[in-house]
Amino acid sequence: MEPQTTAEAMLIAACGINCRSCMAWLRTRNRCNGCKATVGPKANHCSSCVIRNCPQLAASSKGLCFECNDFPCRRLRQLDKRYRLKYNENLIGNLQRIQHIGIDQFMAFQQLKWQCVHCGALLSVHRPNCQQCGKPRETAEG
Ligand SMILES: [Zn+2]
Repeated sequence: MEPQTTAEAMLIAACGINCRSCMAWLRTRNRCNGCKATVGPKANHCSSCVIRNCPQLAASSKGLCFECNDFPCRRLRQLDKRYRLKYNENLIGNLQRIQHIGIDQFMAFQQLKWQCVHCGALLSVHRPNCQQCGKPRETAEG
């Protein structure tokens, strides 16, 4: 892994969620350091996450589920389904995209995706509206 990609790649959770778009990352109080951070507070649902704690994940080099022989496993498919229905976010799609275009390019797209076109603030996957200007989540990326 190239050293300059490490910090960014660290912010993509094993399941394909971008930690930067997570409410636990965006909040100021008791802020989460990300899925892969070994220190600092972590959201409860992430600490106890079956995907994050999957023993097969420990064997992967990037810590992303697509490296696994069982990808996409039942647990990941369940989480993906929940995120697609609830938050309109395709986690398996994210992972497949990283697989195809690489983490650097993926992160470049992600930067556009989670930036509010109205005010430039960071958007959250967990919120339908911009936390700063209150407008519906809308981004430059289609
Ligand atoms: Zn905004």
